Amino acid sequence: MRLPCRSVLLAVALAATSAAGAQPRAAGAAASPARVTVLYDAFGSRSSAMTKDWGYAALVEYGGARILFDTGNDAAIFARNVHAAGVDLRTLDFVVVSHRHGDHTSGLNHLLRVNPRVKIYAPREAYGVFGGSLPESFYRRADSLPREERYFEGEPPPSIRHGTPWPGAAFVFVDSLTTVAPGVTLVPTVSDVAGTRELRELSLSIRTPDGQVLLVGCSHAGIERVVAAAVPVDSAVRLIVGGLHLASAPDSVVERTALALRDRWHVQGVAPGHCTGEPGFAIFRRTFGPGFVYAGLGTRIPIAAGSGAPARPG
Ligand SMILES: [Zn+2]
Ligand SMILES: [Zn+2]
Repeated sequence: MRLPCRSVLLAVALAATSAAGAQPRAAGAAASPARVTVLYDAFGSRSSAMTKDWGYAALVEYGGARILFDTGNDAAIFARNVHAAGVDLRTLDFVVVSHRHGDHTSGLNHLLRVNPRVKIYAPREAYGVFGGSLPESFYRRADSLPREERYFEGEPPPSIRHGTPWPGAAFVFVDSLTTVAPGVTLVPTVSDVAGTRELRELSLSIRTPDGQVLLVGCSHAGIERVVAAAVPVDSAVRLIVGGLHLASAPDSVVERTALALRDRWHVQGVAPGHCTGEPGFAIFRRTFGPGFVYAGLGTRIPIAAGSGAPARPG
């Protein structure tokens, strides 16, 4: 049984610092940083030069890779926050859009102006907002109909494309556990929750020597389902960062979820943001103690090996 060393986790919490107003590259910063920077959220330090708004975006830097995870709710605010954090969107390795909701996708318009050809991983959806296509065989034929009542006058193209608000974007669609760079794996889930049933979502797993760091956009399928889908990558979940979708859940549900993450899934730390909810912030802080990492807008969360998470049990 894994017994997280909470005193060591405290170092993560203490090491999390605000990027707002700071130099993009602080003096003495490592040449290849290992951190997650929160670029878009509705809570954060009052003195932050960044603008708070509902939505989520974060930059992951690990092992020399620079990955943008989600793009926020408003392209102009996203642009301002990216600038304030000193992030250069032209040097990204790739982008992950967790799901189709506007509070995660709207900054794509700014991203594509700055870096139109960047590879963007998105959930595969039959008729999704990211576009796609189906073979012409997807619909049943009625050969006896007159031509003007038949689709494409009875002569469809081999592939029927579906449009997208971002027609030039280099989307790559993902619907299975997919490793996209060394130690970087996309974890797909499908929601079975009323209101978002069949909504597809990608979470982002970063393998570190201390266990995986799991970035989540909204966890619409339920955070336990997301963790269950990520465990095949690495059974040690060192830190969950992002939205846990408990903003309107009663305390009893939030408490049950926090305990399940800690005691059933042995999650060592949480850096909750976005749709986790105000009661959720309090309950996760209480449940995880030193394993709770504040992650308001502008926070830089260190994820280097040995930067706070307990060592893997022998
Ligand atoms: Zn959502
Ligand atoms: Zn959201």
